[in-house]
Amino acid sequence: MDCAGRLSLNFLLSVLVLGLITSTVSSQSILQIPGNRKIIKDDVVWCESWKFTVETNDAGVWESVPEKCGEFVKDYVTGDRYPSDSEAVAEKSLSYATEKVKLAGDGKDAWVFDIDETLLSHLPYYALHGYGTEAFDETSFDEWVYMAAAPALPASLKLYNSLLKLGFKLVLLTGRSESQRNVTVENLLKVGYKDWERLILRGPSDSGTLAVVYKSERRKELQLGGYRIHGCSGDQWSDLMGDPMAKRLFKLPNPMFREISSSRTEKDLLILLSSHALLIELLDRFSFWQN
Ligand SMILES: [Mg+2]
Repeated sequence: MDCAGRLSLNFLLSVLVLGLITSTVSSQSILQIPGNRKIIKDDVVWCESWKFTVETNDAGVWESVPEKCGEFVKDYVTGDRYPSDSEAVAEKSLSYATEKVKLAGDGKDAWVFDIDETLLSHLPYYALHGYGTEAFDETSFDEWVYMAAAPALPASLKLYNSLLKLGFKLVLLTGRSESQRNVTVENLLKVGYKDWERLILRGPSDSGTLAVVYKSERRKELQLGGYRIHGCSGDQWSDLMGDPMAKRLFKLPNPMFREISSSRTEKDLLILLSSHALLIELLDRFSFWQN
């Protein structure tokens, strides 16, 4: 066969392969009906949509990853997407810190970090517990925490060090209890975190308080102490919402775990009802219905 013949054969083969791929993809996931586009949801599409509702907090209260999304979540957190999403959040955080924040230089420019699934990763624990498909077991999770073996989230460690270099005071505000202070410090230092301004843990009087209430109260104390909270990074909306809020909020991905207080008291609910988070939600809904 001459050169021109080989070229046209290659071209024909390429068209055939491309056609095959296109028809396979479209027959698996999308059915095009003239004038009425219909989406056939296979498990991956369903789980991707489920993850979207989790990350945007549209899912509300949920306790474990749906059984059929176990493999999907495993692929997400062990593949390239999770580190890539984490890096994207860290890059946006650093852009804001460098381009939009003017530090006063008085030692009061603060950035608040959550710890679990924000600075430290518990993937090794979740790998042994179905990547979130099993109901959360506080006892076995605490045993893991006491091993001080959680690795750093690489993107967060990089951001942490960059913010430190820029002159931010870094405050670590965690739902862990005061009794876990030593092991928390040990784990943080072991994986490279250092020179934080404060490490705030739940004291005995915070026991049973909703995370959003407890974290808001601590941010209020920081504010009363003269700190300006420019940014807040966390994997749960309860790390970020509530009055006072940081000027910018950075939500890290986490499709494995939703923080729920098991002891929601009447007092907690009353405080929550007056919280900034709920007020914003109500105003948003009000303006939605007005439009
Ligand atoms: Mg967390």
